[in-house]
Amino acid sequence: MRISVIGCGYLGAVHAACMAKLGHEVVGIDVDEGKIRSLSAAHAPFFEPGLDELLRDVQETGRLSFTTDMSAAAGCAVHFICVGTPQKKGENGADLRYVDAAVEALLPHTRPGDIVVGKSTVPVGTAARLAGILVQSEPSAHLVWNPEFLREGHAIKDTLSPDRLVYGVADGSEDHVAVSVLDEVYANALSAGTPRLITDQPTAELVKTAANSFLATKISFINAMAELCEASGADVTRLADAIGMDDRIGRKFLNAGIGFGGGCLPKDIRAFMARAGELGADQALTFLREVDSINMRRRTRVVELTRELCGGSLLGQNITVLGAAFKPESDDVRDSPALSIAAQLQLQGAVVTVTDPKALENASRRFPELQYEPDLETAMAGADTLLLLTEWQQYKELDPFEVSSGVTGLRILDGRNVLDAAKWRAAGWQYRGLGRP
Ligand code: NAD
Repeated sequence: MRISVIGCGYLGAVHAACMAKLGHEVVGIDVDEGKIRSLSAAHAPFFEPGLDELLRDVQETGRLSFTTDMSAAAGCAVHFICVGTPQKKGENGADLRYVDAAVEALLPHTRPGDIVVGKSTVPVGTAARLAGILVQSEPSAHLVWNPEFLREGHAIKDTLSPDRLVYGVADGSEDHVAVSVLDEVYANALSAGTPRLITDQPTAELVKTAANSFLATKISFINAMAELCEASGADVTRLADAIGMDDRIGRKFLNAGIGFGGGCLPKDIRAFMARAGELGADQALTFLREVDSINMRRRTRVVELTRELCGGSLLGQNITVLGAAFKPESDDVRDSPALSIAAQLQLQGAVVTVTDPKALENASRRFPELQYEPDLETAMAGADTLLLLTEWQQYKELDPFEVSSGVTGLRILDGRNVLDAAKWRAAGWQYRGLGRP
């Protein structure tokens, strides 16, 4: 099939490459010339494991190209909308200007029977509004909402073998003409047994925001338990192991730590609350306000714990922060709790050096006032205190005996509860986890 993918960021670039891998003929379109130049040279403009190799592979087949010219979408039967939906400045709601602009720009290039497929995360009701705009311009075109559930760091596998596909079509019916077209797009995953759900458009939009709200709630729940564990001397990691053995609860997403961040969960729960307010259903989601505050409290808590670890004052303390990305295997620093903690510590008088295997370029653009050091050993040299804030494998594997020789103080705060506390203590370190004695 001929497919256009509009918006080539973390979601769109991976989607375009994966669709080409599946045998479709794909054009990726973005307004960012730098990104398009990089993608055209088969080089991912951000870090995602395997993406450079995949881009090289598929570009050799001639099935994948990138451009800033929207007219390249003409002749494609399916158009995926993958542009950003960030939080509005100073408000909780989602900023839909990029989605609106992408659809407007696409309209002159659609043809009868084209399918426009929304993948961006949008407030419920957006699909119906855009469908109205689309049919005014091209009465026989169709709009489907097909939310994306990929996780950065696993984006290729999640796109090629998703755990479910949701198609939100106007009448919510299996017989909708767009269903068979999307089935052809996703034929590979469907034949491998991926479940597919057909819903109406509002349900499909809500599936995504509800799923993210649930995940955020699960993380904030265990972080609230961490607060209780700290107050009572209990250990939240053992608590999570024990409650997680109940199938109905499950152990995943029950790791207490510095809280969630990134380009999705924080802005998605806020946009969801804002949209509920517009719909007169704000009470239904007031609990998300608490989920958000528990999450933001983690960052303050880590700053306080670091101050305690440093003997009561941060002034002049050399602190090395391990990790800047919001999660490992990504260079994404959007709303990264690690970086926000690093910046707070610096503001309060510490001398902060941040290291990360992939995210330093993005981090230094966001917080130019912090010091950055790509080499792990150099970053730790002379540190009074270490903070592990993003659980990259190489930080989880650090040997406390080896690390001891390079640092000035043997103090570590494990913001992700991933280190062996007993081992670090045995090596002479003052170890602090979160929600652990
Ligand atoms: P991103 O900021 O990395 O990418 C968005 C891209 O859209 C940018 O490259 C931007 O230049 C481009 N763009 C903006 N306006 C455009 C226009 N008018 N025409 C063409 N391109 C335009 O964002 P992202 O992380 O890829 O997220 C995109 C959407 O997908 C968001 O709604 C997000 O919530 C959702 N989503 C993201 C993920 C994820 O893990 N990143 C997962 C699932 C869903």
